[in-house]
Amino acid sequence: MSQSVNSIRGINDILPPESAAWQWLEAAARGVLQSYGYAEIRLPIMERTELFARSIGEVTDIVEKEMYTFDDRNGDSLSLRPEATASCVRAGITHGLFHNQQQRLWYAGPMFRYERPQKGRYRQFHQMGAEAFGFAGPDIDAELIFVSARIWKQLGLKGLELELNSLGSSESRGRYRELLVTFFNDRYQDLDEDSRRRLLQNPLRILDSKNPEMANLVAEAPVITEHLDDESAEHFAALRAMLDASGVEYKLNPRLVRGLDYYNRTVFEWVTDRLGAQSAVCSGGRYDGLVEQLGGRPTPAIGWALGIERLVELIRGDSLVPAPAGPHAYIVPLGEAAEKRAPALAESLRDQLPELRLHMHCGGGGMRSRMKRADRSGALCALIIGDDELASSTVVLKPLRGQRDQEIVALEELQSRLAGLCNDGGASKLKTY
Ligand code: ATP
Ligand code: MG
Repeated sequence: MSQSVNSIRGINDILPPESAAWQWLEAAARGVLQSYGYAEIRLPIMERTELFARSIGEVTDIVEKEMYTFDDRNGDSLSLRPEATASCVRAGITHGLFHNQQQRLWYAGPMFRYERPQKGRYRQFHQMGAEAFGFAGPDIDAELIFVSARIWKQLGLKGLELELNSLGSSESRGRYRELLVTFFNDRYQDLDEDSRRRLLQNPLRILDSKNPEMANLVAEAPVITEHLDDESAEHFAALRAMLDASGVEYKLNPRLVRGLDYYNRTVFEWVTDRLGAQSAVCSGGRYDGLVEQLGGRPTPAIGWALGIERLVELIRGDSLVPAPAGPHAYIVPLGEAAEKRAPALAESLRDQLPELRLHMHCGGGGMRSRMKRADRSGALCALIIGDDELASSTVVLKPLRGQRDQEIVALEELQSRLAGLCNDGGASKLKTY
């Protein structure tokens, strides 16, 4: 036997039945997004490295140490995408989507970051995200938050908290930045190594420090929302009024700066205390300068991304995922002649009843083991076909749930009997997983 090949650390397979939870979550989110008028954009999983360096920022954890970067055979530096906003902007510029147009877009798929793998933090993880381009006002900020809140509602997920902040304009942020540099310079001895480095390059990111020893110092630092420009302050107040009017609760968190450089004005994060250190399940914000920064015309923009793994963990923990519907029927052919004829019968039933969930017994075995499999499939009934049934153009319909007796059904009646099961809702309940 040859040696097996290991999977890559932090890069996971998603197996059934967990994959059903993913499908359910994705379908719910897709449904909500589409009902608000967002259309899907499918983006490549790799881009030129330069795209991420210029958008996310050179001095961010992501670009400094988390990207999967390599030279392709042509010598071009490419990176697996660590997030998809930059790609979305790049695609919009490439295809002229921002010229006098407004766009509401969503995407879903894998992202790649070389992080230390742990629960809720992987090297390949999955996001669904929404982005809106060409809207400058706070109404779209509110809408995007409503979309996310409605996804939680749709999933039945309770207890997520919304944290909200405003980073102001790039000018007001520049002034605040100077205050911050002065503040931290005066306390240079208390800064950890990361923060000292950031003090020179990107002092706002010190506020995002994950080091608990920095927490007290960060808590005393000047507060950004007290230094907003007038327009940003107005924008923020209008957004809060819309959230208040719709009953969406939030907590103001003036330390929320986000780990990417492109944000301005509104930033937010949905957090939970149920995933240990990994508290963020959905994060987003406004990035009005990014399109221009990447070579397009000035275009206001805002978006969010949710982390599928973390949400799947929550909805599975709360048993919110509905049990998948089992098959309506399971065909059990007995004997060589029936085994030859049964597949054609199954195909014609599927032609007649597109809704029918029909499992065909494959792989032989004795009568007992075939019936056991029929039962384990979760099917509502078994359709047993032996030599006698072939001779008389019938099948034995044996109910597998409940007390009813088995009966002999003529082939020409079978379709209408199975149609009855399909219309019934017919979903047999498997165990919740
Ligand atoms: P964190 O603070 O947990 O590192 P982040 O600020 O880096 O999150 P974003 O870049 O805003 O996260 O990505 C949006 C969402 O994607 C996060 O809220 C989180 O749910 C999820 N996410 C980010 N990184 C990972 C990862 N390595 N593994 C799993 N999910 C992730
Ligand atoms: Mg991160």
